[in-house]
Amino acid sequence: MTQEEAIKELSAILKRGSNPEYDNNCTGDIETCKNDECMICGVRDCPHDEPLHYHHDGCPACYVEKKIEEMNDEYKRREN
Ligand SMILES: [Zn+2]
Ligand SMILES: [Zn+2]
Repeated sequence: MTQEEAIKELSAILKRGSNPEYDNNCTGDIETCKNDECMICGVRDCPHDEPLHYHHDGCPACYVEKKIEEMNDEYKRREN
């Protein structure tokens, strides 16, 4: 799925959700976006196309990547 397709699909899902205004509130820029933890901005901005990128607990996809990086760093440090 391309990022564009993901955004389109998400928009369709959100329109069907409890808040039909949700999609319309997205300004396309997280700086000005009216949606808390906007999933549309999340998919667009996350390097892993994760809708929860702006989740208050942090992005699960970016979190895993960061953990792997930390483990690699640790591994390198031990090798040297
Ligand atoms: Zn947004
Ligand atoms: Zn992310």
